[in-house]
Amino acid sequence: MKIAFFDAKPYDIAPFEKFDEPKFVFYETRLNEKTVSLSQGCDGVCIFVNDIANAAVIDALYSCGVRFIALRCAGYNNVDVEHAYGKIHVFHVPAYSPYAVAEHTMALLLTSIRRIHKAYIRTKDFNFSLNGLTGFDLHGKTVGVVGTGKIGRIFIDICRGFGMEVIAYDKYPAEGSGINYVALDELFRRSDIISFHCPLTPETRHLINPDSVKLLKKGVVIVNTSRGALIDADALLDGIKERRIGAACLDVYEEESDIFFRDFSGHIVEDDTLARLISMPNVIVTSHQAFLTEEALNNIAETTVDNILAFAQNGSCENELCYRCGNIEDCKKKRKEKCF
Ligand code: NAD
Repeated sequence: MKIAFFDAKPYDIAPFEKFDEPKFVFYETRLNEKTVSLSQGCDGVCIFVNDIANAAVIDALYSCGVRFIALRCAGYNNVDVEHAYGKIHVFHVPAYSPYAVAEHTMALLLTSIRRIHKAYIRTKDFNFSLNGLTGFDLHGKTVGVVGTGKIGRIFIDICRGFGMEVIAYDKYPAEGSGINYVALDELFRRSDIISFHCPLTPETRHLINPDSVKLLKKGVVIVNTSRGALIDADALLDGIKERRIGAACLDVYEEESDIFFRDFSGHIVEDDTLARLISMPNVIVTSHQAFLTEEALNNIAETTVDNILAFAQNGSCENELCYRCGNIEDCKKKRKEKCF
């Protein structure tokens, strides 16, 4: 088996190189309509969050002989799974280390509210003044968690450890979980901190928008380690300028695909909204690094390789994404058969 591995970075090549099978051909470039021909003669492609597998790319992959897309991530909003049906199988890694993302979420929150990002730079310059570094206690504060799946629940546990009151919103609340679910509007009104842990879908796009910003508690800290487009970045910026939003911690950004994971130091960044956000003292941006721990990278490689080898052997794979699943009673996948 030969697999074209797109958007390859040194830190994700290393864990994949440990495996003798399958054979990966590593490309630094991302998968898109211009680069899809690199997959000619490959059985599959291995892609990450900012590669593009829209309808046109899927058709081109199919013409190149590709029969599967192995996502080495959990989210799959960059793949037209419905268009792939009947042509190309799609697998993902549903969980690799929810702890990595939940812990990074708390790291961002603590950095922001205790001004660690400011203090770090000051002391590097031997400036030991405390002026302007006053933070606030997390203990006793209300955190609103949107999405209580694997990552959201671990983050809830971490917040409880800090003595915070947790309220949550999920379209599918987990019964018997002991989580205090409230309506989304109520969560927006009551929370001192809001953290997003739901997938990006048409329904969750721009949950933070000009209207919802008006509902927010004054001084709220917004944390997003999920997907950038959950937040309308211009509405966020306006909310910060109006002093309604007290701080923002972003590991993801709606327009990140042309920017994140690359070195733009020494360049003029074209995205004015991102540049303005980054210039604000109360905004922290990390470039989609919440997943980046050794444990997560090894788990990603192992599950991706397992997915590919299982598919090679059985023509099916436990972690296959099929848009029909859940829509049809007699799902073949439930009988461990091929989707098509
Ligand atoms: P999960 O599937 O375990 O949980 C997602 C939760 O969101 C579920 O409880 C689901 O019911 C809920 N949900 C679905 N639709 C919703 C809606 N309309 N409104 C509110 N809640 C809704 O996923 P997870 O493993 O916890 O991951 C959560 C998200 O984190 C992923 O979708 C991905 O976008 C993001 N993520 C980011 C990184 C990173 O490095 N920054 C890494 C991994 C995952």
